[in-house]
Amino acid sequence: MIYDPHCDYSRRMTSGHCLCGSVTFELAGDPLATAVCHCEHCQRQSGSAFSVNIIAHKSQLTLNGELRTYQERGENNDDVYVERRFCPTCGSSVISELMKRDGVIAIKAGLLDDKSIVKPGVEVWCVDRQPWVSLPGMAVSLDREG
Ligand SMILES: [Zn+2]
Ligand SMILES: [Zn+2]
Repeated sequence: MIYDPHCDYSRRMTSGHCLCGSVTFELAGDPLATAVCHCEHCQRQSGSAFSVNIIAHKSQLTLNGELRTYQERGENNDDVYVERRFCPTCGSSVISELMKRDGVIAIKAGLLDDKSIVKPGVEVWCVDRQPWVSLPGMAVSLDREG
């Protein structure tokens, strides 16, 4: 897992909620990274060009409310490698759990209450990046995963 030294949350409590407000969460401590993901699956799930993810360990997250889970399998329909969790009422993407990364989760940055702290320094899956997208401030750009 990549560590992003630009990630400074000053050890504050970070809170967020889904569009309808029935799912809320708090993140304790500094995340591992803030990463943009250009992958095809994030584009489909978000309906947008990329996802912005706060990467942290799930022990840092306190979540309230009910989520539904979409299990994503590998190319050959093999093991579940990511569980994408979303609010069943409003459909907001909330977190993705990376099943092969020992409790590492990606929290969707658009749900944070204070978005002034979001400063992505890493972008992944640039092989799927839409041609018009060019993001400033990226210290690391990877073709695939970090
Ligand atoms: Zn909701
Ligand atoms: Zn992705």
